[in-house]
Amino acid sequence: MFDASPLTDLRDDLADPAMVPDAIARTAIVSRLDDIIAAISGADRALDKLPRADIAEAARLTANAYYIGGRSWRRQLAESDIPAATLMAVHEESTRAIEPMVRELERLLVAANHTTIRRDGELEFVITCAVCGGEAVTFSRARAHTDSPIQLVVSSLSPVTVFRPIAGPRMKDLVSLLERGNAGAVIAHLKETQPGGCDAHCPTCDRVYCRTHYAVEAQWSGSWHEATHATCPVGHDHEVD
Ligand SMILES: [Zn+2]
Ligand SMILES: [Zn+2]
Repeated sequence: MFDASPLTDLRDDLADPAMVPDAIARTAIVSRLDDIIAAISGADRALDKLPRADIAEAARLTANAYYIGGRSWRRQLAESDIPAATLMAVHEESTRAIEPMVRELERLLVAANHTTIRRDGELEFVITCAVCGGEAVTFSRARAHTDSPIQLVVSSLSPVTVFRPIAGPRMKDLVSLLERGNAGAVIAHLKETQPGGCDAHCPTCDRVYCRTHYAVEAQWSGSWHEATHATCPVGHDHEVD
């Protein structure tokens, strides 16, 4: 499925000092392209695996390709002296190269759908990843202090607010939704009542993924957190936080 030649041709062009005079920028862009090629061809192999496609591995690698070619790299390139047309070619060719893998993955994911609520102890719940069935969102019982009331702590993809506590009547509502086992209703409730929503849910494909199956990119300006974006394994990007 994967035709690496447009990307390898581009890589070979960029390895020429006439194209990218700065040696550091040249080495960086060539090795980044090699990493992207490796991730896409790995995803391709995982999808071709017999007797059945390894969806988890393919999705891990497409998410990885999105991460490697993501915002921070594009920002780094924009600050280099590489011509804009070359940068656009790199982005366009990478997007085009990954597309057949992503389409196939999307098709397999429609059939798979692992998103369910798993009960994990007395007041602990997990919304599972659509790809691997692993932990995408966890809800666990905790107390801020030994004498304070129990809270439900919800996990997040954010690097800043990793866990979000929910207490009082909201917690009661949420627990009863979790007990009913309807993941869609829980996600809708979180989006309605929580400032951070439910960031493990991709609004475009309406699926929930774990950390392994998202490309999570935090952008920092020194110690200031600018933004965090999550790209799902089929290439939809949304802001976290
Ligand atoms: Zn997963
Ligand atoms: Zn998506």
